[in-house]
Amino acid sequence: MTDTTRRERMKMPRTPMPERDGRLRALDFDEVNLGYTDQLAILEATRCLQCARPVCVDGCPVGVRIGDFVAAVAEGRFDEAARIVGEDNSLPAICGRVCPQENQCEGACVMGRRSSPIAIGHLERFVADRARSNGDESEPRAAPSGRSVAIVGSGPAGLACAADLAGLGHDVIVYEALHEPGGVLVYGIPEYRLPKAVVAAEVGRLERLGVTFELNAPIGRAESIDDLLDRHDAVFIGIGAGLPRFLGVPGESLVGVQSANEFLTRVNLMGANRSDAETPVFVGRRVAVIGGGNTALDAVRTALRAGAESATVYYRRTEDEMPARVEEIRHAREEGVHFEFLLNPVGFEGKSRVEKMRLVRMRQTEPGEDGRRGVEPIEGSDVHVPVDTVVVAVGNAPNPMLANTPGLTVTRMGTIVTDEESGLTDKPGVFAGGDIVTGGATVILAMGAGRRAAAGIDEFLGSGGTTDGNVDRRMRRAT
Ligand code: FAD
Ligand code: SF4
Repeated sequence: MTDTTRRERMKMPRTPMPERDGRLRALDFDEVNLGYTDQLAILEATRCLQCARPVCVDGCPVGVRIGDFVAAVAEGRFDEAARIVGEDNSLPAICGRVCPQENQCEGACVMGRRSSPIAIGHLERFVADRARSNGDESEPRAAPSGRSVAIVGSGPAGLACAADLAGLGHDVIVYEALHEPGGVLVYGIPEYRLPKAVVAAEVGRLERLGVTFELNAPIGRAESIDDLLDRHDAVFIGIGAGLPRFLGVPGESLVGVQSANEFLTRVNLMGANRSDAETPVFVGRRVAVIGGGNTALDAVRTALRAGAESATVYYRRTEDEMPARVEEIRHAREEGVHFEFLLNPVGFEGKSRVEKMRLVRMRQTEPGEDGRRGVEPIEGSDVHVPVDTVVVAVGNAPNPMLANTPGLTVTRMGTIVTDEESGLTDKPGVFAGGDIVTGGATVILAMGAGRRAAAGIDEFLGSGGTTDGNVDRRMRRAT
């Protein structure tokens, strides 16, 4: 690239993602972002400097060849772009929508230091959606290996593990406790951010690869991991961290105070926001959401869509420390969500239903060794806020259902101990990955863990070269 072209590219503004108007979209659950057209994608991809050392790749937890796929988009070679992304990311339409790119690939992109980083996430979504709408996603079925693997949990870790194992010719059965596959992708993340059809398309692709989904099948109740080992050669545990944490303050058991998991699952999977639902969710006029992560943002935006007149996020730190994605915070503001910072709830009051929330003001302390500023309560600063519904979104703990499985080592936090490279647990033939190993993390990390475990399981099964070179290469890159 000549210096002139480089300079011109550096001056090009980032191509905005077309999105629906904030006031209109807060009235329904349709997707907020509309996606790039071919022209917009080419325009944005043209900004990429094609760095000799693409630091964006260092920021990607699964090492997608970003420069190469972006170059293919810039040249209109969309199928090739999708193929390159698919080498390392088995859920690109999902990750393109929900990954915190600002802390990953886009956070590392050199263009961020000059103007704005390349919109890598939007481009990833574009190539994945385009490939899906063109039906370009078919993968040939591998020759059967004669080995069988049980996957427990159908979140991103389980789906990615299943995809790679099926691609290697293994017989894969996914056991899912809920009535719909997808894990947090369907029960947690709302439709307006990640349409269910996108997840369903991924599940459909796996089914075409030969993966079987057994739904309403919670392992650990009627059936144990040992029962699964009786009829499968290996087991992968990807059951996530779906146990909600609470604040432990007085009044938390009042009617109307609930976890974000319960609130989101009821709306996302049971349509509880609709008046004709069997067990409709009551939101009332004033909704308070406690927390500052993606879950809090999903809950508060869902509350608005479910009919709340005012929906407010209360976070005990400042906006700078909010773990939620920057785009989600902006979208929430555009839709009318209020934010209150440096306020921490210390109790809920009401007769049987919550009516009031008591909060204490917080102040920041000097940064600690980790450079992060703490917070401490300001004595005598209590305030009361009237509320009809409170949604608590202060984190999740690992699901304890399989913790007592003989042979598994579990940490004090409830996470399963594994070998980092292969996902192998202390129990022979049993692997684990995703949030059940790391605690609550991200979709891409869960997906990467699922892929590493698939490679570990394949090695464990000793099947070796049952597959084509392409899949072999992908497995090596995932490890
Ligand atoms: P999960 O997605 O939790 O899937 C586990 C599956 O296992 C579930 O379907 C569960 O029903 C099933 N299961 C549990 N126990 C059993 C059992 N005993 N038997 C059978 N099945 C069982 N990350 C991002 O990167 N970007 C985001 O924008 C984002 N937003 C989020 C919003 C919310 C509301 C939440 C809760 C999380 C969000 N995350 C986000 C985090 C991300 O979704 C998780 O890190 C990721 O889904 C973890 O994947 P997993 O496969 O380990 O587990
Ligand atoms: Fe392109 Fe940014 Fe990666 Fe450089 S760092 S190759 S500009 S996406």
